[in-house]
Parts: sequence; C-alpha cells; structure tokens
Amino acid sequence: MRSELYIDGQWVKPIKGGTCEVINPATEETIQTIGAATAEDVDVAVKAARRAFDKDGWPKLSGAQRAKYLRAIANGIRARQSEIARLEVLDNGKPFPEADWDIADAAGCFDFYAGLAEQLDNNPQETIVLSDDRFISKAVKEPIGVAGAIIPWNYPLLMAAWKVAPALAAGCTVVLKPAELTSLTALELAAVADEAGLPAGVLNIVTGAGSVAGQAIIDHQQVDKLAFTGSGPVGSKIMAAAARDIKRVSLELGGKSPFVVFEDADIDEAVEWVMFGIFWNQGQVCSATSRVLVHEAIYDRLLARLIEETNKIKIGNGLEEGVLLGPLVSKRQYEQVIAAIEGARKAGATVACGGRRPDGFDKGYYLRPAVLTDVPLDSDAWVEEIFGPVVCVRPFKTEEEAIKLANDSRFGLAAAVMSKDDVRVERVAAAFRAGIVWINCSQPTFTEAPWGGYKESGIGRELGRWGLENYLETKQITRYITDKPWGWYIK
Ligand code: NAD
Repeated sequence: MRSELYIDGQWVKPIKGGTCEVINPATEETIQTIGAATAEDVDVAVKAARRAFDKDGWPKLSGAQRAKYLRAIANGIRARQSEIARLEVLDNGKPFPEADWDIADAAGCFDFYAGLAEQLDNNPQETIVLSDDRFISKAVKEPIGVAGAIIPWNYPLLMAAWKVAPALAAGCTVVLKPAELTSLTALELAAVADEAGLPAGVLNIVTGAGSVAGQAIIDHQQVDKLAFTGSGPVGSKIMAAAARDIKRVSLELGGKSPFVVFEDADIDEAVEWVMFGIFWNQGQVCSATSRVLVHEAIYDRLLARLIEETNKIKIGNGLEEGVLLGPLVSKRQYEQVIAAIEGARKAGATVACGGRRPDGFDKGYYLRPAVLTDVPLDSDAWVEEIFGPVVCVRPFKTEEEAIKLANDSRFGLAAAVMSKDDVRVERVAAAFRAGIVWINCSQPTFTEAPWGGYKESGIGRELGRWGLENYLETKQITRYITDKPWGWYIK
C-alpha cells in the first residue's frame, strides 16, 4: 500500500508532514496512514503539471503516442486487477465482485480513450464552408491545459479513470485529488502510470482533505479546467471558484432518480432491477434509482416480492464469498443514512424492512437494506439523496401521474422505466427530464455512452466522445486567400 503523494514523477511526503488515517469500514480498523497535502504541495503539483504541459511536450505528442501510455496503464491495471480490487474492498467496503468489475472497467476506460486519442490524429481539423469565399476556415481541437480533478469515494479507481483517461488522451496534464476516505487505489494508479513510463508531471496525485488540498486545487490560478464528481454543495463551491478565473468546469453531482414500473412488467424482473438500481454499492451511487413508482395494479405484489428478496441479501465483509452488501463507507455516512431513515419515519413513512444494523455485527458500518413506503412527497426521504441502501416505493395510477412524479425533482441525473410496451417505454423515456434513461433495466453504464445530469445533477458529460470534449478547446483558424487587397482603409 502506498502512502505518499505522487508529484512530478516522484513519491514525496507532504511538505508540512500532515497525515490522514485510512479506515477499513468492515472492521473500523486503521489500515494505512497517508499524506495530507496542503496548498504548498498542491502548488508544487500544479507547477509540475504546468511544466509538463507548457514545456515538456505532453500535448505535442501525437494522439497515437499518448495512446501507447494509456494502453500501458490499462494493461498495468489489468495485470494487478485482483490485488487492486482487494485494496478497493479494504478501503471502500464494497463486495469484491463489484470492486473487480470496477477495476476492469477502469482499465477499459484507459483503453477506450487510447482509441479516441488515436482518432484525434486522424481527424484533427474540420473545414468550415464560409459564406464569403475570400476566406477559408477550419476548426481544430487542442487540449485545455492543466486539469484539476476531484473525485468522491464511491467508485474510487473508476472515477479516477473517468477523469484521468480522457484528460491524458486529449493532451491535458492532471492534478488529481481522490476522496480522503478512499485514496489507496488512486495511489496505485500513480504507481501503474509510473511503471508505464508516463513522463514526470503529466499525472500528479495529491491526497488529503477536500477543504485543504481540494480547495487549493480549485483556487490555483494555473489550473485551467476543473473536473469534479461529488456532492452538490461542493459542486457549487467549485463553480464559484471557477467563476473567478473563468476556468472550464464540468460537474457530476447527485441525484434522486426515479424508476417507473408499469403493470405489464414481469414482477421478478422488475424486483431484480429495482434491487440492482438501489442496493449495488450499498446504494452509494449517484444514479441510484431510489424513488420507485409502481402501477397500482401490481404494487402490492411487487412490494411483497421486493421485501422478501431484500431480506435475503447476504450482508458482510466484502472479501467474504457470496456477500452482496458490504458496510457503508464510513461512520459519518452510516450515521447520515440512519438519520435519513429516522427522519422518514418521523415524517410518516413506513419502514417496510431493514434500516437498522443487522444482527451479529458489532463492528463495521453495516446496515440492513431498507424499503420505505408511504413516504410523503414533501419529506426529505422523497426529495433528498440518501446515498445508502434505502429505496422509497410508491404506487401510481396513470402514466401521466408517473411522469409528473418522476420529473418532480431538482435533480435530473437518471431515470428508468419498465414495461413490455415498446411504444410506451420510448414515450416515457422521451418525457423524462434526465441525462441518462434506462429502459427495462437500471444502472448499466458504458464507457462509450454519455454520462451526466440535467438540472442540479451537473454540468457537462463524461464518458464517450463527450468525455474527451471536456478536455478540449476548439480553435478557429481562418485564412484570407485572395490576392485582392482588403481595401477598407487603404484604397
Ligand atoms: P463530496 O462533495 O463531499 O466530496 C467529493 C470530493 O470533493 C472529495 O474528494 C472531497 O475531498 C472534495 N472536496 C470537499 N470539499 C472541497 C472543497 N472545498 N474544495 C475542493 N474539493 C473539495 O462528496 P462525497 O461525499 O465524496 O461523494 C458523494 C456525493 O458524490 C454524492 O452526492 C453523489 O451523488 C455524488 N456523486 C456523483 C456522481 C456522478 O457521476 N454524478 C458519482 C459519484 C458520486
């Protein structure tokens, strides 16, 4: 396990010697002590990234040359996939098969953006037909510069990959700050990049508190672009910081996503996807479909099956065989989720199952997954993101009512619909005000497809070609091509 900061191709201790403890949420034991960077370290990291961008030529490499490094990183991750996945479990608590899936996805993300980096060489410019034939014009894409990337704790390595891979593919250099709760696999990414021979300063990883190291990144005047995934309140701070220096900014924030199940859906299929939509990763998923709207004709039957299956989920240490729900990431998160369930109860909701510590667990931030019913529409439980294994289920009568309830949120990250009627699902998909819509499923996420939210769920899109665009500027180059003098002042 690494513990130091990775700056300018070197492993270094924080200048002021600060540290933070890494706790295993399954055992509550400290498993590592890592560096806590301050503004001084961030300044060194940003200057290294600046040098790598301005002087050392990372953006001058061809896309194909950058792609070689990205593929080497992908292979480096894959070569140590199980080991890194195990580290993710120790740090975050998620079940091993989920961590293994994430790490494979992270490697795939580097491969995908290697492909897009190569395409930048094949299609570097777009000719523009102008209305005035005395000129020709073209648009070229160029990297923005130094990207400051700040990520949350729910998918530690995968979120790092979603930022670092497109940024490096585009030709940007990066200063990445992982979440203070889960920094270990980001440090492994630095180790893998180092082994891949990535030039010094191209990728810098600073661990530490958001309010110190994170704030120093967003305030740094030599950072050109801020890429953030996390909570709305911190997203607002990032926009405010970006506003001062007109930094480019992309935000992936929270959600309270709906899942509409119509009366013709197969009940077991629906229960499977409802559970996958909220219990995967202990419900600590920005796109979790946490508000489930079920047609009244099947509501009772679906609810009964959902409770039955939810009570069967095997809870335990993510390293144990067969576990499908690990501990929440931290004591704070555990207490917040418990408080949200208590708040729901006080507001008049029924806790139909779960919502408390499972029997036999006296250590670890374990929680039995909860199904809430009768949740008032104006209660926090219905309106606010809980970010835990807690689902609100509610009946509806008509399609119109379901769409109205689904869209009645200040968030708009994702939405799901289930029905056998092809025309209806397309109509509902079109009516959702959300950046990601799933039909007859919930949560499958693909590196090739755009990811991001409407409304307060964010700005910009990650993944696919949209993710690359996040790190590119568009430059117009226009040439005067006739021999005839312009003749405005000089006749
Ligand atoms: P958070 O906003 O508290 O922290 C996210 C990151 O921001 C961390 O690295 C943290 O250290 C840093 N940070 C905190 N204060 C900062 C500051 N003042 N300046 C700069 N950086 C600062 O969020 P979290 O609790 O880690 O993650 C949970 C949230 O993330 C949820 O709301 C969830 O919906 C959201 N999320 C969104 C997506 C998405 O793709 N839309 C994905 C995962 C998580």
